[in-house]
Amino acid sequence: MSKICFIVGHGKSKSGGYDPGATSGTAQEFKIAKEIAKYAQQYYNATYQEQADLINYDGSLYLTDRINKVNASGYDFVAEIHLNAGGGTGTECYYSSGNNKGNQYATAITDNIASVFGIKNRGAKVKLNSSGKDYFAIIRETDPTGVLIETVFIDTASDLDKVNTAVGQKRCGEAIAKAVAAARGAETKPEALSSPSHTKQEIPAKNFRVKITCDKLNIRADAGTDNKIVGTVSKSEVFTIVETKKVGSVEWGRLKSGAGWISLKAPYSKRI
Ligand SMILES: [Zn+2]
Repeated sequence: MSKICFIVGHGKSKSGGYDPGATSGTAQEFKIAKEIAKYAQQYYNATYQEQADLINYDGSLYLTDRINKVNASGYDFVAEIHLNAGGGTGTECYYSSGNNKGNQYATAITDNIASVFGIKNRGAKVKLNSSGKDYFAIIRETDPTGVLIETVFIDTASDLDKVNTAVGQKRCGEAIAKAVAAARGAETKPEALSSPSHTKQEIPAKNFRVKITCDKLNIRADAGTDNKIVGTVSKSEVFTIVETKKVGSVEWGRLKSGAGWISLKAPYSKRI
């Protein structure tokens, strides 16, 4: 039986109807959160020896149903996935007041999401209600250590852009899964460690190499000059590009190392 669980926030209202959570234009919190939670579970179960459950992917459970399910399952850790609203930017994660383990999970999760997307890290937080108890019922009313992840702000375009595609949802889910695994010391499956066959699968034929043709070129957290600078590369260095994206008329390439993205525009770099 699984010891941990990813939970999707929202999906069903108290009266039984559909609850999309926060919305912004056509974007709905529940629909994005469910995909992030799915990718978190997929990555976790493919990579680590222990397995994670996924609750409320189909939106069939109201908050109290989710709490009851968690308390009937004997988990030692649960994470409920949400998107924030209210016009801020960045990622934050709530844990139960006084729970040091919860603080560790929440800190690892926000560190990972902030670094994968190059967004503000609002950090691990505690929120109390007027009685001095944890504000969020999914943390307050459940037995395991629980966290509530406010991945990014749905109503801030630059945040929403990060999770509004399957690629972004996957990156977010994987960032969460890796943080949870690190915080609990989960052991990697032997077959998930690099092996020739695994490496082969991860390098599709469309990958190509580029040579840096200017003195210094910034590595950015995502494609586009609006994103945070996370490092630099230097003249004559050669890199493998595993994904490309166009921002305006400029093509950007994702470095195979996972360090970030560089501009593929001449005269900064050239394909070799
Ligand atoms: Zn929410």
